Amino acid sequence: MIQLQGKPVAATILETVSKRVAEAQAKSGRAPGLAVVLVGDDPASQIYVRQKHKAAQSMGIQSFERHLPKESSTDAVLAVLDELNRDSAVHGILVQLPLPEHIDRFRVLLGIAPAKDVDGLTQANQGALVQNRPGLRPCTPLGIMDLLDYYQVPVAGRRAVVIGRSALVGMPVALLLLQQDATLTVVHSKTPDPAAVACQADILVVAAGQPALVTRDWIKPGAAVIDVGIHRTASGLVGDVDVGQAEGWAGALTPVPGGVGPMTIAELMRNTWQAFRQQDD
Ligand code: NAD
Repeated sequence: MIQLQGKPVAATILETVSKRVAEAQAKSGRAPGLAVVLVGDDPASQIYVRQKHKAAQSMGIQSFERHLPKESSTDAVLAVLDELNRDSAVHGILVQLPLPEHIDRFRVLLGIAPAKDVDGLTQANQGALVQNRPGLRPCTPLGIMDLLDYYQVPVAGRRAVVIGRSALVGMPVALLLLQQDATLTVVHSKTPDPAAVACQADILVVAAGQPALVTRDWIKPGAAVIDVGIHRTASGLVGDVDVGQAEGWAGALTPVPGGVGPMTIAELMRNTWQAFRQQDD
């Protein structure tokens, strides 16, 4: 079974972005800026925000963090977004999800200027994705497509099954696979017998958020399996795929950690660069 390691792919993306940032800085004295808005104290979210901050700094992208208390109102979050939308040093804005229950996520996402929406979650960018028009795409789905490309996993004409239909991962990756001419099925929590559908896939993308959900009977022998899930357990980080079951059965699998995770960060840096370039033009 081939390990679809994300780190080497992410490294090539980060190298290119970092070179371009240095060139822009030398030419105009301006650098891209990325703002991450965190509401509350979710420990996993705090780790993700720190990783994004570190990655941005390591490539010369200015990093701004806005940390709001967990009891903040939707309007308080919108006020911060309004300020960031108007700040010319900030080219990319990301609201770390999940938000506390009482906050209206839909209104918050609408509050991000589409040109700065580096997570690709605004209506404008998701609409552009549906219509296959230029726009900022969600980072994890972009990372999955780049992994498939790097490891030369053919997509056109292949049967692809995506498990999960979230706006962040499942739906956008399904659309990207479709746009690359895969024959697509989306499986979700209301699908009867999801394993029977999943096991027909040449490419199986698992974004269900259920630890070790996918066992051998979900996998077609030789399939390329992309495991998006991340779960902290007593024995360390695990994904949505039961690795022991996939071993010797799947043709290729992304490791957890080290598969999709590094790709998500790299794509965020690339999106921030893209947003900067477009705003600077
Ligand atoms: P989500 O909870 O918003 O969506 C999960 C989806 O899976 C839903 O559409 C649901 O219908 C479907 N689902 C749940 N249980 C199912 C089952 N038993 N059978 C079939 N479908 C089922 O989650 P999300 O935001 O899309 O994230 C999914 C996972 O990916 C989580 O573990 C999350 O932590 C992880 N994630 C990882 C990265 C990364 O960079 N590696 C990025 C984003 C999310």
